[in-house]
Amino acid sequence: MTISSLGCGPQPKAINQPSDQKSDELKPKADYALAIHGGAGIILRKNMTEVQETAYRSALNHALNVGEKILKAGGTATEAVIETIKTMEDNALFNAGHGAVFTNEGKNELDASIMEGQDLNAGSIGGVTNVRNPIEAAYAVLAKSEHVLITGKGAEQFAKEQGLTLVEPSYFYTDRRWKSLQKAKESEQKNQPVSVDTKHGTVGAVALDKYGNLTAGTSTGGMTNKRYNRFGDVPIIGAGTYANNASCAISCTGHGEYFMRYTVAHDISALMEYKNMTLDEASEEVVLNKLVKAGGSGGIIGVDKEGNISLTFNSPGMYRGYVKPGERSVKIYGDDDADH
Ligand code: ASP
Repeated sequence: MTISSLGCGPQPKAINQPSDQKSDELKPKADYALAIHGGAGIILRKNMTEVQETAYRSALNHALNVGEKILKAGGTATEAVIETIKTMEDNALFNAGHGAVFTNEGKNELDASIMEGQDLNAGSIGGVTNVRNPIEAAYAVLAKSEHVLITGKGAEQFAKEQGLTLVEPSYFYTDRRWKSLQKAKESEQKNQPVSVDTKHGTVGAVALDKYGNLTAGTSTGGMTNKRYNRFGDVPIIGAGTYANNASCAISCTGHGEYFMRYTVAHDISALMEYKNMTLDEASEEVVLNKLVKAGGSGGIIGVDKEGNISLTFNSPGMYRGYVKPGERSVKIYGDDDADH
């Protein structure tokens, strides 16, 4: 399914007028910009084989290619975000869609959200078990319902009514994530702490399109061994995802409980809006200062209305990349010297 098959694909909207003409003259706007993440955590060279590293880099490059093609051709930020995220949801490397982590009960419960910066419209789904591409369901909530967040069986019913592709829950099974669940349970039984860094992942994309609109989207399986239909930050607008044409579009990854308590995505936007911080300054204040003091590990990707990009994380690594005219980068480790 494409978003246009929902019958309400986002239309290019009016170009935003720069609020500060002077600074705009000094700093040319990027025609378009796209940034992605595939999760943050203890991602270290010593734990990665060459084959794994190549697979991650090529998946991130593929995701960027798909999104850039849409933006270059004049597609909207929303279309780019959805199609980019779908490539990662379909790839077992990432904790989203196929490849999602398991709950304590041995299920895969998926969360996703999307927000458009032009009118602050948003859609989220939580805890679905049979929607192949949760980001499409989140967009359907935005475009086709009067709600922002729907969950569980109701969200599955809605996805069915919207004609989204449904799958058997076993579609989400992967050996790797099943083993992680067994390991997490063993550690729990032995009263050994399981590093939260080994329990999560998530994918996200943020984009600026040629019409000056910003969109942010995020999709996840949540955290390994989660219980009680737990949701993290991903389906919570303002926590894991936020977009506002006046400031930025942000998608987060990390220990969701902290990202919810610190409303990370909205906080970055608010610092830009009310304190006139740049995207980098605001991201660093929240991720490298506030979250670090609180003990919340993870990171964010962001793009502002000028096409500036921030990829900021306080964990050892974050799968990440961005592309804009004439520039492209894909990185994994904190001290990554490769650029593709
Ligand atoms: N933030 C996600 C959650 O808590 C997990 C992650 O990003 O790794 O569900």
